[in-house]
Amino acid sequence: PEPKPGGNVAFYCVETSARLCRRMKMLQALHTALANDELFLCFQPQIDANNHNVIGFEALLRWQHPEFGLVSPVEFIPLAETSGLIIPIGAWVLTQACQQMQRWLEEGFGPMRIAVNLSARQFESMDLYPLVCRTLAETNLAPHHLELEITESIAMQNAEQVLGIMQQLTDDGVMLAMDDFGTGYSSLSYLKGYPLNVLKIDQVFVRHFLDDESDEAIIKAIIALSQSFKLAVIAEGVETQAQAERLKALGCQYFQGYLFSKPLTAVQATLWLEQQQGL
Ligand code: C2E
Ligand code: CA
Ligand code: CA
Ligand code: CA
Repeated sequence: PEPKPGGNVAFYCVETSARLCRRMKMLQALHTALANDELFLCFQPQIDANNHNVIGFEALLRWQHPEFGLVSPVEFIPLAETSGLIIPIGAWVLTQACQQMQRWLEEGFGPMRIAVNLSARQFESMDLYPLVCRTLAETNLAPHHLELEITESIAMQNAEQVLGIMQQLTDDGVMLAMDDFGTGYSSLSYLKGYPLNVLKIDQVFVRHFLDDESDEAIIKAIIALSQSFKLAVIAEGVETQAQAERLKALGCQYFQGYLFSKPLTAVQATLWLEQQQGL
């Protein structure tokens, strides 16, 4: 058949409106996701490169919806951010994550910490610091068992306010990690002014660094920076033994990735810990 004039345009419109429709339906569903118990956390182990001990877990949010199925956080976190739903959802994540870590510590696992992702919106709402304090008190978790992962875009907005909150948190002993390090803008200035404990090397650099000299150069530079600034460094997206060995040789201290474990449900993570720590 002859291609219709303007066929591409029409196709494009149908395509985008279908996607828009899905987004709007999803946004509506997200409003009731918490109340309907559709959210849950997965936990991905973080590993010491030297002895392969677990040093903690990153909490990763999941949404299981009756119609949409398992929705990726890459799709629904932006919706939660623009709608403001990230505020109640983020508070829920923090509580669940601290609660689970405290449970593991009480069961005798450890020493470990739980890493929780924060969105910029959570920093904009002035009560992030009191929220963290309240959550730690309510879950009975000591501050040094909590690590908050922030991104460069958070640090860029409201620099003064963000810095103030970060200072309060680290003064209390909460750990701060810079997530996806090197993927944002002007990363280096944050190293100077911000009270960070950990740099996370983004998986885009890890994926191909064994056969890509530029990626390897970036990883080397991040590790050198972490050493100069006395920060811990963790590589994410470690999928192969060869990557882990090379990263360790370059001076990377900690790993996170499918080589060790995919993100696990709380039940799976507990079984995984039992195997690891023999309890
Ligand atoms: P992220 O913080 O960079 O998290 C790492 C992502 O890499 C996770 O995707 C994890 O499942 C995936 N990953 C871990 N190891 C490997 C590996 O070896 N290979 C590959 N290919 N991928 C690996 P996930 O769980 O889909 O989360 C995506 C993003 O959603 C996160 O990226 C984070 O930005 C956001 N997110 C997840 N949970 C939360 C949350 O509770 N709050 C906020 N604000 N954002 C969250
Ligand atoms: Ca993260
Ligand atoms: Ca990351
Ligand atoms: Ca990432």
